Amino acid sequence: MALVAGAGGFIGGHLVGHLRRMGWSNVRAVDFKPKAEWYQRHAGVDERVLDLREAVACREAAQGATQIYNLAADMGGMGFIETHKAECMLSVLINTHMLMAAKEAGTQRFFFSSSACVYNGDKQVDADVTALKEEDAYPAMPEDGYGWEKLFSERMCRHFREDYGLITRMARYHNVYGPWGTYDGGREKAPAAICRKVIEARQSGRHEIEIWGDGEQTRSFMYIDDCLEGSVKLMESGVEEPINIGSDELVSINRLVDIAEKIGGIKLKRRYKLDAPKGVRGRNSDNTMIKQVLDWAPSIKLEDGLERTYRWIHDQMQTPVAVRRAI
Ligand code: NAD
Repeated sequence: MALVAGAGGFIGGHLVGHLRRMGWSNVRAVDFKPKAEWYQRHAGVDERVLDLREAVACREAAQGATQIYNLAADMGGMGFIETHKAECMLSVLINTHMLMAAKEAGTQRFFFSSSACVYNGDKQVDADVTALKEEDAYPAMPEDGYGWEKLFSERMCRHFREDYGLITRMARYHNVYGPWGTYDGGREKAPAAICRKVIEARQSGRHEIEIWGDGEQTRSFMYIDDCLEGSVKLMESGVEEPINIGSDELVSINRLVDIAEKIGGIKLKRRYKLDAPKGVRGRNSDNTMIKQVLDWAPSIKLEDGLERTYRWIHDQMQTPVAVRRAI
């Protein structure tokens, strides 16, 4: 049985479907949100609503699981993590209790979704950034709150492997986007937020867009299908150290807006909100290691993935709120 923790969220919801399509007949999906709020639901899955900050809930979730994918975390885009540092750090309870439960249950493999936010901020001060290699997480100076929790939990995964023989795999995801991702409400990330703003501008006729920062900050964005493929490959691999799973197609936020405008067939007047949360100045994924060890790297072009994402958000925004996200 494979357990997906955080299955009511964006990546977890996709992962449950992916594992089912791969042939896993026994999948358990756990999240603490009421089922009506899960982004995706899949037939034939053992769905449970449990608060995984609690050790007893983790024990119930892990019972009988040979593999555990831990994607549960209290997180969101920059607008959320810069203003909810304590909440982000409390996710340490989830990973701690999940690891303990996995050990007790005799789970064979444990996957932890870490983040590019673990990387040292001093290496991300230029928009024209040198892509981040795995070794750049140390000396440690990660994103305050969220990044420290991820880095600490990576270490705990490492020590559960060394001390208890639990096979742990750690992915440092770089900005994942795609259909079923959060696109409003305050936890959304840049690709979804920008698609939503372009769609709103089209619909309202107010041809303006607000951009956080000066738009010259750079990032790379990974489409969800690459994220799923990379995560399963890593889980099945012999790779013991944390590894980047991210696109290395570096773009500025202004370029991201250009692409969304092209998809929407519109040009907007840009207003830059310079005091908005914007995170580091530049960040990209160095994919040398993943190519070496998995003979694979994310490859879906931003223009293609963003087009699919834009269409999905557009459809959602046409749909009455009460039936959105229902299957
Ligand atoms: P998400 O917020 O959509 O999903 C996380 C899910 O965890 C949510 O459904 C939430 O309800 C659930 N959760 C939170 N606290 C819980 C608890 N106490 N018990 C049970 N469930 C709980 O986020 P996502 O984008 O799907 O991210 C999944 C994982 O990947 C997270 O660990 C995140 O930190 C990591 N990550 C994501 C990205 C990205 O760009 N999406 C980048 C780096 C890392």
